[in-house]
Amino acid sequence: MTAPQEPDRSNVVWLGAPAFPEAARAALADSQLRANLKHATGTIRDKRLAVTAELDDWEQLREAGAALKRRTLRHLDHYLVQLEESVTRAGGVVHWAADAAEANAIVTGLVREAGAREVVKVKSMATQEIGLNEALAEAGIAAYETDLAELIVQLGKDRPSHILVPAIHRNRAQIRDIFQREMGRWGRPAPDGLTDDPRALAEAARLHLREKFLRATVAVSGANFAVAATGTVGVVESEGNGRMCLTLPQTLITVMGIEKVLPAWSDLEVFLQLLPRSSTGERMNPYTSTWTGTTPGDGPQNFHLVLLDNGRTATLADTVGRQALACIRCSACLNVCPVYERTGGHAYGSVYPGPIGAVLTPQLVGVEHAASLPFASTLCGACYDACPVKINIPEVLAHLRARVVEAERARHRLPTAEALAMTAAAGVLDSPRRLAAAQKAAALGSRLLARDGRIGALPGPLHGWTDSRDLPQPPAETFRAWWRRNREQP
Ligand code: SF4
Repeated sequence: MTAPQEPDRSNVVWLGAPAFPEAARAALADSQLRANLKHATGTIRDKRLAVTAELDDWEQLREAGAALKRRTLRHLDHYLVQLEESVTRAGGVVHWAADAAEANAIVTGLVREAGAREVVKVKSMATQEIGLNEALAEAGIAAYETDLAELIVQLGKDRPSHILVPAIHRNRAQIRDIFQREMGRWGRPAPDGLTDDPRALAEAARLHLREKFLRATVAVSGANFAVAATGTVGVVESEGNGRMCLTLPQTLITVMGIEKVLPAWSDLEVFLQLLPRSSTGERMNPYTSTWTGTTPGDGPQNFHLVLLDNGRTATLADTVGRQALACIRCSACLNVCPVYERTGGHAYGSVYPGPIGAVLTPQLVGVEHAASLPFASTLCGACYDACPVKINIPEVLAHLRARVVEAERARHRLPTAEALAMTAAAGVLDSPRRLAAAQKAAALGSRLLARDGRIGALPGPLHGWTDSRDLPQPPAETFRAWWRRNREQP
């Protein structure tokens, strides 16, 4: 009998990264980081609110998006097979990858087959998730990110901190320093006397990238959607770098999570309204590129679509957790999350940060490998209100918290202190008599500890609760006692 295989987690969780509480503490101590995040998320939040308020049917659009995703996920097997047939008919080649290692091996093999030693890349969460750049580097192939924010992250040997704005944690001066220091090592150096003016930074990136676009024979992209009925794949972006990658090279390899499929072309009408307004606060994204297989003499002559599972079918099997697969990666939930705004994305230790990361990551890799993430939330519900496809993130968080507790219970032979406390609490709450006695004891005890109506610090293991907050002193008389005294006639 062979030993069960460890899931290939690649970049879904960053191996060696500290658990969220520890990483968050370090992030909170970085005042520059907090200032950068507050400014950036506040700006995008305001823009999103303004443009979504313009549409009278915004709520109906959200409903339509949610319903479409629900239906597609219910019949995912059917739509994926249909997509494969359509892409093949149009001249493309479809590959199925069960996990990151398989997807990386497929892409590496295809690049080698094309005789290339370098590729240009369109920003793609799926390729970050599988650690494709690292896998290509191991095979001696250089992968160049062409999205401005991804370029900043790559040159800075950094990790992305946001789904849409991976370099959100960097300010302009930091970006100028990275460009000056690193561009020359990767290709065309930054111009002399580069300032931190956004236009100058964008121009430096443009010049640096142009030579790569013109030289590359292979491009790798992600996909925002793929239409099963026609085999059309689509990418939306803001800088035009995507369009360069999708049209200039001879070979195009697209890596796409299997949940990105949509049944029909007309479904795009809904998502192309929801996505730009929710993500960048724009009415329409500047570049929408769609392609269907190959066309002789026009664009890439070889097209490969890699359909990636990597934990998605396991997620689909969970009737509550599967909601996370409806995500269109707009990042609206990150921008409204009070926890994300203060800690930034690195603290989540995953390629998927913020509220969506807190529910998606543990499901893709198994809750035991990201056990702190479902707790990285105040459950305030702002993410649910903002999500364009109505993913009930707080519901999934609570569901995953229960799974983490169950997994912990199964791991420990002896009950943990938390489990003992919960058992005791259940016993007290189960009996009105015991609850009344406990309330009386709490009121008596609190008189010894309270000052000016507040308990500053609880003794023993309970101090964890009061370390960072005051506890109001329980009232001398409980509501039940008051009720009995005033309303229950003898
Ligand atoms: S969970 Fe919703 S709000 Fe968050 S990134 Fe996904 S689609 Fe956007």
